[in-house]
Amino acid sequence: MTKITCSEEQWRQKLTPEQFAICREKGTEPPFTGKYASCKTRGIYLCACCGNALFSSEQKYDSGSGWPSFRDVLSADSVTREVDNSHGMQRTEVLCSNCGAHLGHVFEDGPEPTGLRYCINSAALELQPER
Ligand code: FE
Repeated sequence: MTKITCSEEQWRQKLTPEQFAICREKGTEPPFTGKYASCKTRGIYLCACCGNALFSSEQKYDSGSGWPSFRDVLSADSVTREVDNSHGMQRTEVLCSNCGAHLGHVFEDGPEPTGLRYCINSAALELQPER
């Protein structure tokens, strides 16, 4: 269960139209367009909606997909996973465990040791650079 609950109107005020469409309406940014697709800056990626710490740059890798890709989450309780049968595919949706934001999907074709590829929309993330 998510800890932060905002009304649709509150999210619309807090987020950009793109962030709202992706995070609150389960949209997807076009590949190779997001600001973090090829970002190599060290730091922690926070949820763009609520600031929950989600991913570390240490786990980021270039999957070639055009979306920020991570081998693993920052901590096991950072995200929640749900079965997503939309668009004629069976995928696993990844959501912020704190506010329920749609982040992206996780696939089982990632590199070792996890074998996972967290495919995440840049618009759902806010990088907090390492100091
Ligand atoms: Fe969140």
